[in-house]
Amino acid sequence: MSAPLRLMAVHAHPDDESSKGAATMARYVREGVEVLVCTCTGGERGSVLNPKMDRPEIVANIGEVRRAEMSRAREILGVEQRFLGFVDSGLPESEEEELPEGCFAVQKLEDAAAPLVAAVREFRPHVIITYDDDGGYPHPDHIMTNKVSVEAFEAAGDPDRYPGTGDPWQPLKLYYHMGFTKERFEALHEAMNSRGLGSPYSDWIARWEDRPAKWPVTTRVPCGDYFQIRDDALLAHATQVDPEGFWFVCPRELQQEIWPTEDYHLARSLVDTELPEDDLFTGIHAEDVSPACH
Ligand SMILES: [Zn+2]
Repeated sequence: MSAPLRLMAVHAHPDDESSKGAATMARYVREGVEVLVCTCTGGERGSVLNPKMDRPEIVANIGEVRRAEMSRAREILGVEQRFLGFVDSGLPESEEEELPEGCFAVQKLEDAAAPLVAAVREFRPHVIITYDDDGGYPHPDHIMTNKVSVEAFEAAGDPDRYPGTGDPWQPLKLYYHMGFTKERFEALHEAMNSRGLGSPYSDWIARWEDRPAKWPVTTRVPCGDYFQIRDDALLAHATQVDPEGFWFVCPRELQQEIWPTEDYHLARSLVDTELPEDDLFTGIHAEDVSPACH
């Protein structure tokens, strides 16, 4: 029997793993892949986005509450998860607003990347998923998450870099999550309208600039059968997700029919592969796969 494949997903806050690539992870876990989510910050500065959870005792203990939510989501997805120990930078209200002292996004790249390099050297993933260099959305922690992921992908295999963080390990592929494409939301929008459901996406799509994608989709992973698990995991982040809100307006069955994949851009590859792909591990062969040392 060959050693298992390993997938690492790098995220900024608890809940990001459940809204970006969750069904992909749920599928791979159930196919025997080892999956580790690395969460850069504790989400301490997240606001409570679910009116039912906006209570003083929750707001006062938000860090603790979000850890408990993360632990439940981890169980639902079936993944391993660890916090990398940085403090949430919060989402500034304007470009001029200064970020809080000591938060994740103001760290020097080497300091910010070191715990992730250590995690890569320990877990030894073949594939890493993260955000694109705009962060997927312009939260400073998401942009920093892209930077540390690229840095770890490039440095973890180099024995001269990041001394004291374990034996070198070179991941083989790096992907950017591409779930929020105009193409996808237009397809869901049209399907909802044509079935008389009314679409919540009109304004959003209208505001979307028409320009060629900076990071074209290279890889669509079929995972519609895992959308229920994705949604359950997202709901476990009860302070961050309103069950009556935006995420759940489009019926799951419709998503499964119209857009049953989660989509990615292959940003780096050290193996030969042919695009488009339908599997993050395309091009990775048994001989590349050696046992992990935990
Ligand atoms: Zn986030």
